[in-house]
Amino acid sequence: MINVAIDGPSGAGKSSICTEAAKRLGFVHVDTGALYRTIAYSAIIHSINTDDEISLKNLLNMTKVEILFENDTQTVLLNGENINDKIRSEEVSLKASDVSKIPIVREFLLDLQRELARNGNVLMDGRDIGTVVLPNADVKIFLTASPEKRAERRYLQLLAKGEKIEYNNVLDKIIKRDYQDSHREIAPLKPSDDSIIVDTSELTFEDSVKKIIEIIEEKV
Ligand code: C5P
Repeated sequence: MINVAIDGPSGAGKSSICTEAAKRLGFVHVDTGALYRTIAYSAIIHSINTDDEISLKNLLNMTKVEILFENDTQTVLLNGENINDKIRSEEVSLKASDVSKIPIVREFLLDLQRELARNGNVLMDGRDIGTVVLPNADVKIFLTASPEKRAERRYLQLLAKGEKIEYNNVLDKIIKRDYQDSHREIAPLKPSDDSIIVDTSELTFEDSVKKIIEIIEEKV
């Protein structure tokens, strides 16, 4: 099985670049952020305060997360319900960053991620894939872009969706999430020593996909 770990901050284009690269390589793309988003969504609908570890533990005890792949699309099931279209809001993004700091949440999701990597050729994206989840991955890439460039891309996406939002507001949220993700005690966002850093600030989508494929093909 070939395991490719792709880590990086939010908004670097990991998800869309990985989806396309995996499709061209015939690999399965595992978006692990969706798993943290699922726990965050569950905490929101059950009004669980994520600082309250006992309530969170109880929540995890009654939570079943499954992941399915069909036609290059990943579907996450929360207790059997497809919640793909409920986990992409800004509220869930921020809550996901909160729950992901908590060790019991990371432990809860660890086996599922490792199991997926054992079952096929995967391109797995997240924050700690190369450092914690798959330390022996065949290829490790750290995909990044400047906060300003990431904010600009996100801002344009939200505008296209008809959302009224200020660029500075988007930039502030990106900086806040970066800080939170890279300063937490457990599994902080950082490139592993053996990862190849790809900065997409000045790359088009197509060039970013080609670059990723080139690195993978060179290594395996
Ligand atoms: O990648 P995405 O933006 O969907 O991830 C949502 C949040 O989940 C991130 O801000 C991060 O806090 C957390 N996450 C993580 N470890 C991963 C994937 C995501 O901590 N492997």
